[in-house]
Amino acid sequence: MSEALNVEEIFASKVFTLGKMKERLPRSVYKEVKKIMEQGGELSPAAADVVAKAMKDWAVENGATHFTHWFQPLTGITAEKHDAFVTHPDEEGRMLMEFSGKELIKGEPDASSFPSGGLRATFEARGYTVWDITSPAFLKEDAVGVILCIPTAFCSYTGEALDKKTPLLRSMEAVSQQALRIVRLFGNTEATKVVASVGPEQEYFLVDRAKYLQREDLIFTGRTLFGAPAPKGQELEDHYFGTIRERIGSYMKDLNIELWKLGVTAKTQHNEVAPAQHELAPIYETANIAVDHNQLVMETMKKVAGRHGLTCLLHEKPFAGVNGSGKHDNWSIGTDNGVNLLDPGDTPNENVQFLLVLACIMKAVDTHADLLRQSASDVGNDHRLGANEAPPAIISMFLGEQLEDVVKQLVETGEAAHLLEGGKLETGVSTLTDLEKDATDRNRTSPFAFTGNKFEFRMVGSADSIGSPNTILNAIVAEAFCEAADLLEKAEDFELAVHDLIKEYMTKHLRIVFNGDGYSDEWVKEAERRGLPNIKSMVEAAATLTTDKAVKLFEKFGIFTKVELESREEVTYETYSKSINIEALTMIDMAKKQILPAVIKYTKSLADTVIAVKEAGADTSVQTELLGQVSAKLAQAKAALVKLEKVEKEAAAISNAKEQAFFYKDVVFTAMGELRAPVDELEMLVDKDVWPIPTYGDLIFEV
Ligand code: ADP
Ligand code: MG
Repeated sequence: MSEALNVEEIFASKVFTLGKMKERLPRSVYKEVKKIMEQGGELSPAAADVVAKAMKDWAVENGATHFTHWFQPLTGITAEKHDAFVTHPDEEGRMLMEFSGKELIKGEPDASSFPSGGLRATFEARGYTVWDITSPAFLKEDAVGVILCIPTAFCSYTGEALDKKTPLLRSMEAVSQQALRIVRLFGNTEATKVVASVGPEQEYFLVDRAKYLQREDLIFTGRTLFGAPAPKGQELEDHYFGTIRERIGSYMKDLNIELWKLGVTAKTQHNEVAPAQHELAPIYETANIAVDHNQLVMETMKKVAGRHGLTCLLHEKPFAGVNGSGKHDNWSIGTDNGVNLLDPGDTPNENVQFLLVLACIMKAVDTHADLLRQSASDVGNDHRLGANEAPPAIISMFLGEQLEDVVKQLVETGEAAHLLEGGKLETGVSTLTDLEKDATDRNRTSPFAFTGNKFEFRMVGSADSIGSPNTILNAIVAEAFCEAADLLEKAEDFELAVHDLIKEYMTKHLRIVFNGDGYSDEWVKEAERRGLPNIKSMVEAAATLTTDKAVKLFEKFGIFTKVELESREEVTYETYSKSINIEALTMIDMAKKQILPAVIKYTKSLADTVIAVKEAGADTSVQTELLGQVSAKLAQAKAALVKLEKVEKEAAAISNAKEQAFFYKDVVFTAMGELRAPVDELEMLVDKDVWPIPTYGDLIFEV
């Protein structure tokens, strides 16, 4: 029997929770902190000193030697710089560990070495990290010791956001303010704010670390740049929800424990569709904390993998030919007095507040489909969105049969008199209970699906921060709420006005609703007919950030300034170019130093064989034919390599960021594909013993 694990005891043991603050802080300070967490405001310097001391004492008791302002620059991952609590020794050489309120609240990392899209020049490098009181501090423990991590926002000297958190927090305030206006219209006077909640389902791959270390492409780029398909892929559908193998199970167990200690509610685990692919989902929480926690999940996944001789691949498409990984961003909004605005109740057709919220979301998603798509773009996700794997790059909304029917009735007649019921599920087995069915089946192909009391935004990439998608969701919904409230607050006859508005929004934006197969070619044509945008790549999506429509939206709610948006567009181009450049250089390196030399050796041994066999007087037709085939592919690969080297140099020389990114996408990326094709064919032709790197079979079936 394994020893019982006390999950209740270890949960959040490494988090400076509200509970710990209550224990350790004077009542007045605790109350001040709690009030600011809930309602905003600034902590007085005296209170900040008290909180800092309590936090430090708790951290030191738990082995901490350093603290760090933990932040989320535009790299999409987190950044930290450690400072020890040590101070000047006194006259007698004694040192007392200290941590002040000032150090808690404000940090000053050098901002010039983080992506800023021109916002920061190296000569004016000042940047600030500012304590985010709404996300709890926690302890990270690994080989470097125990570090107190303080979640912070990261801004430039002039106040521009340089990170993913600042705009997210701004968007949460915006959606809260506007949603409050909506619930007030329906007589809710108790709610003081509306909170966006998020539950991200995280997909990942695990491969054997020793094999990983033999592949430069995995090491430098996180994905395989070469690799012929294994004889078996995912066609038998035997991996999804399959029995979890021992090695993976022991990894999952460790991962859960680490996450629980960090206060992450790791809840669901299972094998995913592709071989070696898995998923973890936590319970949803406030958007801001969910974003921080998702970063911790990704980081912990990688860290724990090392302990098991594994490597965790978070890339969106580590292997061609089998599914890649995404992140389902489950999103809802609810009042602080417990009303989920996305809960339709038993009779959605009569739930006017819900219908108004739904109409507003339809309007928001239709109006800003381009921005939503942009928010889910990263370099790796280009292999999924609009490529051979879904969800497609076209944004549409799935409502399910029951709601779609309600919407259509409203559009057609202005009334939704009846409701489709789920009915009973009859299994035909007398010993099985008949279940009440959901009124709606699932649709796995929709990028934005209503799933009962939340929307599931399924486009997000597995390696990406969920900061941007949730910022956009909050922002676009805030705008739609604001416009509705502007009208309805002035209405003389509220009942009539709300009824008309729901009908108007739903009629106007019905084109965004699609319940069919989002992966089909027919949908691509149908979407085009409906005038829905189909933005195929990250670089094409970047410009959506700076359209007049986008600038107006973000400036109105103080989420981004025009300058911040321009900087983010610029960062997108730079990130894309740099990433593809690394991929191209890695391919060149592997082809030149590993693959072509191995194949050349192989042709030599084949040629030697032909000569020897001929001398011995036997038939050499098989060997000769193989030699001919291999030599032809080798020549093709060599020519493609020369071309890739040439275009990579041309790309690197382009100075305009946008032009450069497009060149990388259209020319360099294409040349990479032209090199990969003959190399993958060679892999199928030559002796396995001479192939210099582990194959797909080795990597995803032998974990
Ligand atoms: P599904 O089966 O539809 O994927 P689950 O219940 O498994 O739904 O939930 C998937 C994720 O959605 C989990 O992280 C869960 O916590 C989250 N989730 C559930 N309800 C909400 C909600 N109201 N708001 C945001 N996320 C939610
Ligand atoms: Mg789901």
